[in-house]
Amino acid sequence: MKNWIRPEIAALSAYHVPAPGDWIKLDAMENPYQWPEELQQEWLKSLPDAEINRYPDPAARELVAELHKVMEVPEGFEIVLGNGSDELIQLLMMTVAKPGRTILAPEPTFVMYKMIAQFVGMEFVGVPLDVDFELDLDAMVAAIEQHQPAVVFLAYPNNPTGNLFDRAAIEKILSMAPGFVVVDEAYHVFAEESFMGALPHYENLLVMRTVSKMGLAGLRLGLMAGAAHWINEVNKVRLPYNINVLTQHAATFILRHAEVLEVQAAILRSEREQLLQQLSLLKGVVKVYPSKANFVLIRVADGSADRLFEALKEGGVLIKNLSPAGGVLADCLRVTVSTPQENHQLMDALRTRL
Ligand SMILES: *Cc1c(COP(=O)(O)O)cnc(C)c1O
Repeated sequence: MKNWIRPEIAALSAYHVPAPGDWIKLDAMENPYQWPEELQQEWLKSLPDAEINRYPDPAARELVAELHKVMEVPEGFEIVLGNGSDELIQLLMMTVAKPGRTILAPEPTFVMYKMIAQFVGMEFVGVPLDVDFELDLDAMVAAIEQHQPAVVFLAYPNNPTGNLFDRAAIEKILSMAPGFVVVDEAYHVFAEESFMGALPHYENLLVMRTVSKMGLAGLRLGLMAGAAHWINEVNKVRLPYNINVLTQHAATFILRHAEVLEVQAAILRSEREQLLQQLSLLKGVVKVYPSKANFVLIRVADGSADRLFEALKEGGVLIKNLSPAGGVLADCLRVTVSTPQENHQLMDALRTRL
């Protein structure tokens, strides 16, 4: 029987996510803040309007209208919704997948691009970033010319490195890539930089966003914006009811009060600056990488990342250990920016265990 499992799937290991525990959770870029009490009450009162005995609106019209406004999708461009932006990566790849076709991205980057490429039977080409985790433009252009990728993925800012790639380098890639270029803006509220406004200038540009990092990770909702003729094609591959009634209801509600999320993002942006500053003063932290996201990548002394990660975990603070990924990420740890109190606890835990 086991021959039925595709060999490339059998060779994979499942994406590991730690089970929920009593940790201060600084591993997954979640927003630590809840909604103000009155807003929670207002939302609770509106819940009976969510008809969970019915199938959801397959086109999620109310939610799509809200997202067009909040995400500043240019006039005349369309969006397709995903059960998280992870699903959109999958949908786009399913739309273009054919034997021999490739997906290309710089590395290290968001691991789902490579994993989903493998799920759909596509070749993945990773192009190393330079020592500062900036795009190596010559190498990118050469690899794109050689492999003619169906899609190039650029996380902006990049995860796990935290930086915004050079805008002119991305524009160069947009102008020369033969296939789609997805600019993945999962952290747009922390970066305050975007390619959304560039949609009218590049036929092959698709801009992906998610509400996960801005405070709604539990809802599982992402969007991809682009020219209507492309979005229509991706929409054919989408299962009709992928965005459930409760997600449509809750997201539409909170996006009508988007200023609440914007205030939270502003606090986290300022906390990020403080954390960057404090981390750079820590003895034992070899390097703090610049960040335009709600996380910070740090490099610790040779061979000490695993021990430090375990010691923090034992002390009740869960961060992300990137060291097992190896290569340029050896000795690297990633911490999510949180409330002043949790950031303080993180700094204390680091100080005593470094
Ligand atoms: C977190 C993240 C995503 C996934 O977002 P979901 O909408 O929660 O699936 C996509 N891209 C990048 C770069 C991320 O860091």
